[in-house]
Amino acid sequence: MFFIDNYLVNNSTTKVATADMESLYRIFTVAEAPDSTLGQIEKEISENLAGFLNEHIVARAVSLGEIERDFSCPDMPEQPTFVSDHTQFLLDKLVANSVHTAAPSFIGHMTSALPYFMLPLSKIMIALNQNLVKIETSKAFTPLERQVLGMMHNLVYGQNSDFYQTYMHSESDSLGAFCSGGTLANITALWVARNNLLKADGEFNGVNREGMYRALSHYGYQGVAVLVSNRGHYSLGKAADVLGIGRDDLIAIDVDAQHRVLVEQMREKAAELASKQIKVMAIVGVAGTTETGNIDPLDELADLAQALNCHFHVDAAWGGATLFSNQHKHLLKGIERADSVTIDAHKQMYVPMGSGIVLFKQPGLAAEIEHHAEYVLRKGSKDLGSHTLEGSRPGMAMLVYSALKVLGRQGYELLINRSIKQAEYFAGLINQQADFELISEPELCILTYRYVPRAIKHLLLHADESAQTLINEKLDDLTRFIQKCQREAGKSFVSRTRLSSQLYPNQTITVFRVVLANPLTTEQILQDVLTEQAQLAQLSQFALPELNQILQRQAEG
Ligand SMILES: *Cc1c(COP(=O)(O)O)cnc(C)c1O
Repeated sequence: MFFIDNYLVNNSTTKVATADMESLYRIFTVAEAPDSTLGQIEKEISENLAGFLNEHIVARAVSLGEIERDFSCPDMPEQPTFVSDHTQFLLDKLVANSVHTAAPSFIGHMTSALPYFMLPLSKIMIALNQNLVKIETSKAFTPLERQVLGMMHNLVYGQNSDFYQTYMHSESDSLGAFCSGGTLANITALWVARNNLLKADGEFNGVNREGMYRALSHYGYQGVAVLVSNRGHYSLGKAADVLGIGRDDLIAIDVDAQHRVLVEQMREKAAELASKQIKVMAIVGVAGTTETGNIDPLDELADLAQALNCHFHVDAAWGGATLFSNQHKHLLKGIERADSVTIDAHKQMYVPMGSGIVLFKQPGLAAEIEHHAEYVLRKGSKDLGSHTLEGSRPGMAMLVYSALKVLGRQGYELLINRSIKQAEYFAGLINQQADFELISEPELCILTYRYVPRAIKHLLLHADESAQTLINEKLDDLTRFIQKCQREAGKSFVSRTRLSSQLYPNQTITVFRVVLANPLTTEQILQDVLTEQAQLAQLSQFALPELNQILQRQAEG
């Protein structure tokens, strides 16, 4: 089996791989033999993907340190290796210890299962190895990407067909940009906002040429700020940093009990900033907060942005796909008034990792970030790279397009509706449990909760604030303990986060966080997750006994 392995073929009969040109030519020309290790894996994957993942990802408690030992050799591999040997190593050391994100019981993160057709299609995409930065390396892919941007723009903004006829393939306009994810999408959106605010004016050549210092001087600002709720994603902090705005000028506004930004407070903050000659460059609304899945009042934010005459960005990295659902899209009402919108296709659109999108309401908005170079991105060319932060980029648009086409809006609607319904079911299930406490009600398909023994729940209800604080700290320890044990046991996975809750307004608490986006997750699995957590709690050697001591002291006096 090995000597017909094609990665490097050695002419000698002993199995020692050596680097010779003939072998090297072969790795660029010869297909994998069907009975080689790699050939067999390909067969397994194409016949039964879930089976392959279930078999090769080993559910067992393995520490990160243990895995690090397998990847601690700094020596550059000197000799070639047979692909079969290498593949076997990957299976044993990498695949085996990977995270089973496709498992229906993996309900802790936004990374979910993929439709099966993504695999063979990705293979075609990689084989073509198009570079979307310019048409010379992506003819056909560039028009395709522009069409996908048009479709997504249409989903958010719903312009008429003349609009899309005019702008979809226009060289000087841009309906949006593909990028590696929500972070890059948010940075791009705020980049556009910054360059439009501080654009060329009279003698001044624009912030893109003269930099922040001269831009602020020219416009007479003491600084610029971006306003977002304190539930805004950390990528906005990175954006403020790289754009020279400063993380301290990304200003966090408080939220209400449903984790939605307090628009009045944002308005007051803007007025305060204005009195200090600090210009609000953009306000950001979140459509689907990362921790609790809540949606800001987008219409009110659009009004405020209009009043402030500033850019309105909506970070819908997670929640944007809700627009596919006729039943639930009203939750995002007002998004169509945003100047720019971030949507991650690698979240609720079930496209592989590395697929973010930013959309611009006005096709000319991105003109201020336009960049030209001599050998590519020439003026007047339709090269996508003239409006993207990234340079060389893969043809992920092919996979987004495929998902849109294969599933259709109706298919996505079924998925979105199912996820939201399942989150409602799980919230109801948690509310029925004597020993669990629901912390955030799901608005989309994310919810948070924690394990609280019933006697402690009762105590919390009647305790004064300092006693509550102490009990909550012990419960934090317990939640962390349960979450770690559950992750290490490897049967199921929920994530954890810290947040403030209306139940305990004066402290932040640690909670389990669940994202219900895998269509294969069943009600039985959700029941089992709670059962497992209740069992793991009993293994706690510190937190639970300490809570019991508190109870005992309470009973005694
Ligand atoms: C996931 C997420 C991001 C960041 O997206 P990446 O794809 O991880 O870069 C930004 N904002 C929100 C609301 C998100 O959920």
